[in-house]
Amino acid sequence: MKMPRLTRSILTDLLLYMMGFGLFAGLSYPFFMPLFGVDSSSVMTPLFWASSVCAGVSMGIINFLWVHFTVRPHLRLLADRMHSIKLVLSKNMYQEDWNSACGHQSCFIDAASDDEIGMSAQAFNALVKSLVHAHDVEFALKELGQTLSSSLELNQMGEAALRLMIARTSSSAGCLFVEDKGRLTVAANLGIQNAEKLAKDPFVLYCMDLGRKDIISLPEDVEVNALLTQFRPKEVLIVPIRYKDENQGVLVLATAMGYHQEDHELVDMFIQGLGLAMSNALTHDRLQDLAAMDPLTAIYNRRFGLNKLREEFLRAQRGQLPLSVVMIDLDHFKQINDTYGHLMGDRVLVEITEVVRNTLRDEDVLIRYGGEELLLVLPGADLKMGASIADRIRRLIEDMVIINENQKLKVTASMGVSAVPRAFTENELQLIKAADDALYQAKAAGRNRVLSTR
Ligand code: GH3
Ligand code: MG
Ligand code: MG
Repeated sequence: MKMPRLTRSILTDLLLYMMGFGLFAGLSYPFFMPLFGVDSSSVMTPLFWASSVCAGVSMGIINFLWVHFTVRPHLRLLADRMHSIKLVLSKNMYQEDWNSACGHQSCFIDAASDDEIGMSAQAFNALVKSLVHAHDVEFALKELGQTLSSSLELNQMGEAALRLMIARTSSSAGCLFVEDKGRLTVAANLGIQNAEKLAKDPFVLYCMDLGRKDIISLPEDVEVNALLTQFRPKEVLIVPIRYKDENQGVLVLATAMGYHQEDHELVDMFIQGLGLAMSNALTHDRLQDLAAMDPLTAIYNRRFGLNKLREEFLRAQRGQLPLSVVMIDLDHFKQINDTYGHLMGDRVLVEITEVVRNTLRDEDVLIRYGGEELLLVLPGADLKMGASIADRIRRLIEDMVIINENQKLKVTASMGVSAVPRAFTENELQLIKAADDALYQAKAAGRNRVLSTR
């Protein structure tokens, strides 16, 4: 679009126009006089013409001066104000919050008159308002970019993103769900009550499946039995999060005030970045799991498991807490392989791992330490407790019957237990060594038994 150009001074033009008009009026005035009954011989004289021209030009000059001394100061005031506002904006160019730097006094013109000057001031105010809004959006997106790239860990990143969305929109509470095989789990929650129940809500799942953003309005006269939040929400926003046509999760936001157009626009922009970040975090989680897990038994592999043991060992040392480890080795496992084949051996290993895993508490750690050796880490359990847990597991394995075609297979296991606090145990490797020694003695003593270090 071609912009109109501002040419040389309008006031110079105005002066020329006014004087030209005065000159024209002065010159033409004597011709009109006979129409009003004045004798033409008395007006068609050089003297009358000269005085008429002088009067016309003087009127022109008076008009010009009137404009100069009344309209011009107002225009100057407007220009000065615009200039000072421009300085405020430039000074705060890189500052995040323009709303406090750019208040009514500092960034807006008081549009007192309802003429063209007042309209110019109003148009300017509207321009500044959209500039402040654009700046806000730009900063919010920049902040979101930083937040989303701050961590690859899903819960950490999700909570930071949720906090930002609540701060930047009219929301007062929110919850971020992550999708896994069609089901939702809570990745981050700020102020939503009973988020686990909300994760199973048919309408939330329906919105996710359809990829459709929806808003639930709760007018004040509608009675609500179970409140989603501690405050009474006026609107609840359900936003599916997708990346490359794949569901990543759902964002639920609640407001006590109601959402505006800007909130919707901001949420839509946030969601695109969040979809990518969630996809990255989930891929990272899966890779972490792949790196940490033993593919056959789906428990921690030796490398990752030993890191976990080190953490638990240091925690026990710091807190002066007991910690026990149980080394489990299946008895005569080579024979099972030789008799039934390696595949059957694998199946036995998987089933035994499953039985052991089902006896554990959340804080216990189960590691595939070697071929058919499992290492069990029991935080908080002293030697006696560790041995008693080990013996319970031993009996469960002993009672197991594994069916192979028409044959029934029985397996037993020997176990060695060690624990801290114990003299001469300075690190976790010494703890494993002690358990291994006890296991060796259990094997030597006839297998299918639990022995502890002394
Ligand atoms: P012991 O009672 O002395 O422990 O006898 P064992 O036969 O179990 O001896 P050992 O623990 O030394 O032998 C381990 C055997 O476990 C050797 C190998 O055939 C088998 N094994 C190790 N890893 C796997 C595995 O991943 N799958 C299967 N099927 N067998 C394995
Ligand atoms: Mg072994
Ligand atoms: Mg063995």
